Amino acid sequence: MVPISGFVIKISSRCNLNCSYCYEYNMGDDSWKSMPKTMSIETMSKVMDRIKEHSLKHDFNNISISLHGGEPLLVGIDKFKDYISVIKSNLDGYRYTIGMQTNATLIDQEFLNYFEENEIYVGLSYDGPPKVNDLNRYYHNGKGSSKDVEVALELLKDSKIFSGILTVIDVNTNPIDTWHYLTQFEPPIIDFLLPHANWDNPPLSHGENDYVKYGDWMISIFDDWFNGYKSHIRIRFFEEILYRLFGQKGTLESLGTEEVGLITISSNGAYEQVDTMKSVYPGAQNIGLNINTNDLDEVLLQKGIKDRQTGKNGLCTKCQNCKVVNICGGGYYPHRYSKILEFDNPSVYCEDLYKLITHIEDAVILNTQKSQIKQ
Ligand code: SF4
Repeated sequence: MVPISGFVIKISSRCNLNCSYCYEYNMGDDSWKSMPKTMSIETMSKVMDRIKEHSLKHDFNNISISLHGGEPLLVGIDKFKDYISVIKSNLDGYRYTIGMQTNATLIDQEFLNYFEENEIYVGLSYDGPPKVNDLNRYYHNGKGSSKDVEVALELLKDSKIFSGILTVIDVNTNPIDTWHYLTQFEPPIIDFLLPHANWDNPPLSHGENDYVKYGDWMISIFDDWFNGYKSHIRIRFFEEILYRLFGQKGTLESLGTEEVGLITISSNGAYEQVDTMKSVYPGAQNIGLNINTNDLDEVLLQKGIKDRQTGKNGLCTKCQNCKVVNICGGGYYPHRYSKILEFDNPSVYCEDLYKLITHIEDAVILNTQKSQIKQ
């Protein structure tokens, strides 16, 4: 078992957007309603105590903090600074990174200056051209978010602390248009995400005989990128497949069979499995432990956490016998769920993942053969 060294800390439980596919607010889990709107400074101090206690016990010194929400910047700049000062004073002498995932609508020059001065890495969520983004990412009054996000993108474009864009795939859009559009902002990384779905709530665009729409959508972008279009921009999902094809370890928990050392801590101090479990069924993220009464070793013993640390042996029979299992790893844990077999299934995106991974494998083999012929 690996210790937990990645911490998603929810400093805000509310959001100024109301995205159609949001697992926090629009997939049945209403736990946010009873959460403190923002994490208290006392809770943040206690979180840091637990992190230090765990790192001391397991002798590791490399900590990743990711500030999340809801929308983390809703806390306002003064409280944001207070959190950072608590985190930094506690991690003095450690190696650490502080990042944030934001919808970017509240980033202004003051926030940006502070992020740059304090090396806080900013990842933002944006789904592509305005007309695509605004289909799903809008304010509570229905107004699309793209105009405000683009203001932030212009501010971030040349900044060292811009860490990348998360884009949820909409297979009804043109993949190349989306990819080319996003590249104009020169993000260091783009992460294309499969929408949250499982066997009881399959992806909307999976037709009866069409289980590879998502695979095909990603293959179009992979071919363009692999053949040289803006290939200096990293596409995390493809990179992580390539690492594993070459026998290296990856870091993305939605692929591969590596042990997952990541936990979410909600604004009231409760430990949660990965927060996207909320897309599975209401309360699926809960493990019944919190920072006041439980240390992180107790978290490691919880079933949902242990399952994600058992590698290939924890997968269903179909996945264990699959030829791409070391790369795919059964896909993202929440995407395996069904009421009958719980997580003992392949990903609901199995066919898409298989098609994409084997396509990338073939492209790499072909590329290697071409370079050997040239020599
Ligand atoms: S491609 Fe399908 S069967 Fe193979 S490991 Fe992935 S989810 Fe499992």
